[in-house]
Amino acid sequence: MNKFHDDTNCIHGPNHFEDPHGALTAPLYQTSTFHFKNAAQGAARFAGEEAGYIYTRLGNPTTRELEEKVAALEEMEDAAATATGMGAVSASVLSFLQAGDHLIASKALYGCSYALFAHMLPKFGIDVSFVDMTDAQALQAALKPNSKMLFAETPINPTMTVLDLTMLGQFAKANQLISVIDNTFLTPLLQKPKHFGIDLIVHSATKYLNGHGDVVAGLVCGSKEHIATIKLTVLKDIGATISPHDAWLINRGLKTLHVRMARHCESAQKVAEYLEQHSKVTQVYYPGLPSHPGYRFLGEQMKGAGGVIAFELKGSLQDGEAFINATKLCTLAVSLGDPETLIQHPASMTHSPYTREERLAAGISDGLIRLSVGLENVDDIIADLAQAFNAF
Ligand SMILES: *Cc1c(COP(=O)(O)O)cnc(C)c1O
Repeated sequence: MNKFHDDTNCIHGPNHFEDPHGALTAPLYQTSTFHFKNAAQGAARFAGEEAGYIYTRLGNPTTRELEEKVAALEEMEDAAATATGMGAVSASVLSFLQAGDHLIASKALYGCSYALFAHMLPKFGIDVSFVDMTDAQALQAALKPNSKMLFAETPINPTMTVLDLTMLGQFAKANQLISVIDNTFLTPLLQKPKHFGIDLIVHSATKYLNGHGDVVAGLVCGSKEHIATIKLTVLKDIGATISPHDAWLINRGLKTLHVRMARHCESAQKVAEYLEQHSKVTQVYYPGLPSHPGYRFLGEQMKGAGGVIAFELKGSLQDGEAFINATKLCTLAVSLGDPETLIQHPASMTHSPYTREERLAAGISDGLIRLSVGLENVDDIIADLAQAFNAF
């Protein structure tokens, strides 16, 4: 394990880069293929007898820099970068599950993870149960002789429900399940699932890791053995590998991750406190508020509450629409973790893959609004929300 702190690793990565020309920034290896000195070298690379690159779908130095950085931040042995966050989610499940296996998934999940598990996996003979993972008894009751994997995210999008990682890690170990946590919302700077015995950590790097709203990408972190399996099966043959250019942009974005996360948390806390006292808001979901059930996990499990807030407006669905249409600085867009503050309506947008019943069961009401608090001056963000409240 390398000796640096997280904020140093965000900038340098575990393996300090030495460029032959002295370039400060590692170059972008924008190449599809790598030439061999002779036939013997090509054969040795394919046989795995000589380290080195062959073809970018199988590996690339720019991609490798990203994988090493994020693996170091997650304190995992290795990582695989993917074309999107969903590429990471699908690679983590498809690499280890086969027909006849059973997956225990959280009943509240990112909308497309839910759609993959509910609609796609059963087509390949994989049995999936959706469980309330705040409930240890429900988890126990979901176990089957063929249970192979547990998949969850925390805090849960968009209600920010926090799951007990100690409980989940112990449950998975006791029952020989491969445990997977989607750590997109907090990033390794605020939460390290590894400390709770989690086997695989997935990320949508589209969000905070890149942090500039100009890339879609993902990562899976795990043991050397698990990552080798992912790379040599699903990534190689299904092919959701990242573009080196995107990896280069994320390497650049990562250099400020520690500074950005501190600011996202600080501003989100102020916005959440503002919303909580507003007469037109009935409920605020943010683990940084003592009124939120997730607050007790701050400290031990999570170093910060992150930058995403959900809240319920007093009033009808139409009032909700009027409110989001009236914001001027807060941009009506899905995604999160960008410098811009983004506002969206989960029921009609990110969580539309759910039926209404499934959505309500996951705690996502018609009137819920999600805010990804950006890096603007927080007083400007609050002033924009204040004027939008006057629109209804
Ligand atoms: C965005 C997101 C994903 C999917 O990532 P993409 O990069 O959009 O494919 C998965 N999980 C969570 C929690 C997300 O926010």
